[in-house]
Amino acid sequence: MLKVEDLVVNYGVIQALKGISFEVNEGEVIALIGANGAGKTTTLQTISGMLTPTSGKVLLEGTDITKVPGHKIVSMGMAHVPEGRRVFAGLTVLENLKMGAYTRSNKSEIADAFERVYESFPRLKERQNQLAGTLSGGEQQMLAMGRALMSQPRIVLMDEPSMGLSPIYVEEIFNIIESISKAGTTVLLVEQNAKKALAIADRAYVLETGNIVLFGDATTLLNDNSIKKAYLGE
Ligand code: ATP
Repeated sequence: MLKVEDLVVNYGVIQALKGISFEVNEGEVIALIGANGAGKTTTLQTISGMLTPTSGKVLLEGTDITKVPGHKIVSMGMAHVPEGRRVFAGLTVLENLKMGAYTRSNKSEIADAFERVYESFPRLKERQNQLAGTLSGGEQQMLAMGRALMSQPRIVLMDEPSMGLSPIYVEEIFNIIESISKAGTTVLLVEQNAKKALAIADRAYVLETGNIVLFGDATTLLNDNSIKKAYLGE
């Protein structure tokens, strides 16, 4: 479904990605794990068209989207939940969700999207008239995820969804990611919480300073000694 080929991204003299390649098959949950500064956010931003790589390719269902702008990529079936949530604080929950459906004009499709999102996130329905800026961190994360799902993507990229959340919310967010996957959406998940990410992922790639240093089945990686030491705190 998604293929990244030999991606190089430079920020001035800093090479953030040094030629990474990986793929995500339809229906999979793929985790991208790695330490701070490894290049995880840069990878997602390049895939979703927020950054243009120095070289390399991004293919979505065989179509080269490397130079396609972000808003067009959304209408091609990919959504991105950015790091740090970035909800529109001065808009209500409902208005934020509506923004997520900007690629759609058909009213019944939008109503359908609302129904599905409210099914996954009953809390958002309860709070649909509340200003997003007054939601708790966990609720804002749900809103950011819900907003991305309003475009009814076939693949969703999630950047550190558990960051800064209390353990109960972390649990809830990971349960929701699993249910989004079960409902048929492909997921590319960037996480510092490697243990939780590997627990729900099918496969994973490990990034270190701009290179993929290890990849494999999530369960194999969970039992890998170098992963245990470096990322699982064991
Ligand atoms: P984190 O988990 O801390 O968010 P990350 O794995 O997502 O880390 P990136 O944010 O992709 O890593 O950063 C990769 C490298 O590129 C880092 O060395 C970072 O300092 C650098 N970098 C990222 N954004 C910029 C920028 N706008 N200008 C210059 N350097 C940048």
